[in-house]
Amino acid sequence: MQVKCNVLDRQFQMYQKEYEQAALRVLRSGWYVLGNEVEQFEKEFARFTGRKYCVGLNSGLDALIMSVRALGIGSGDEVIVQANTYIATVLGITENGATPVFVEPDEYFNIDANKIEQAITDKTKAIMVTHLYGQASEMTRIVNIATKHHLQVIEDCAQSHGACFAGKMTGTFGISGCFSFYPTKNLGAFGDAGAVVTDDETFAEKLRMMRNYGSKIKYHNEIAGINSRLDEMQAALLRVKLSHLQALNDERKMLAQRYNEGIKNPIVWLPKVREDAESIYHQYVVKCMSRDFLQESLEQSGIQTQIHYPIPPHLAQCYHFLGHKKGDYPITESYADEVLSLPIYTGMTLEEQDYVIEKINAYQI
Ligand SMILES: *Cc1c(COP(=O)(O)O)cnc(C)c1O
Repeated sequence: MQVKCNVLDRQFQMYQKEYEQAALRVLRSGWYVLGNEVEQFEKEFARFTGRKYCVGLNSGLDALIMSVRALGIGSGDEVIVQANTYIATVLGITENGATPVFVEPDEYFNIDANKIEQAITDKTKAIMVTHLYGQASEMTRIVNIATKHHLQVIEDCAQSHGACFAGKMTGTFGISGCFSFYPTKNLGAFGDAGAVVTDDETFAEKLRMMRNYGSKIKYHNEIAGINSRLDEMQAALLRVKLSHLQALNDERKMLAQRYNEGIKNPIVWLPKVREDAESIYHQYVVKCMSRDFLQESLEQSGIQTQIHYPIPPHLAQCYHFLGHKKGDYPITESYADEVLSLPIYTGMTLEEQDYVIEKINAYQI
């Protein structure tokens, strides 16, 4: 049997008729960028998250870069970020000339709230939180720390569409909730797309200007903006998927539960979910000391797995100038050596999953 880490057309087939109708509606409308579909999607996604405003953008990376920029954070400023996040979170900081200050993750793969305060200096302007692999971070404590030190909270929700902490949705704890709708995300488009949700009207207005060359009125450029517009096709398709997101997340939770119960190999560590937190299992990430051998052995059985992420940002070649070296963030580095993402995706069959479970249980060094 072959098991891929994702088979994207299965989620298309699941609601094929609805997607095709939405696509045809856009093709026939004669209007393709920033129009009625985008407006409707923004309303629906704002309502889904429980925020007042949503601004549709080109990508998750743009959501991060533009949020930092709209808050006036730049050269000479520091932003706290977890060390084991995806590079895009860090790019959101460095693309604005600000300096990322890394904090180690906890056993849930999210930022360790116990280690945030010691990283704060008089240059710190914000805490950037990634709800990694779909699990909500410890937001009550993080927000308390931010409030105490007058810092902004920016949430990277690219992997956490619909995940809650203490009953409150990720993306609603700080000024900005940044979302990616890259096709593999839980709420994925059929191309690139992203968004910011916020309750701050001025902030939303600034992002709206920024995404369209810095103008509210055509050719009246108030700020130096960029092109990060969301197109009508992606917005229309996202509206369809958003209406099914609950079911899609429930399916992943069911699959995660089956992994939790089925994997019984003492050398494979299973992911845990914090009390009060929820995971929508964007990834199901195990740890294993002999990870590379495990991956190879699964590969030989026809099972594809991924590593999120093999090189932590502080050791990435592009961040050599920050002056970090191996050993600076040992927990992060050990995760990079030991984590393995098992196949979990919309439309994965139970037979496929049972095969993965069987092969993991049979693995020995
Ligand atoms: C996918 C992802 C991003 C970037 O989103 P794009 O839409 O690909 O730009 C940012 N942060 C995290 C944690 C992600 O997983």
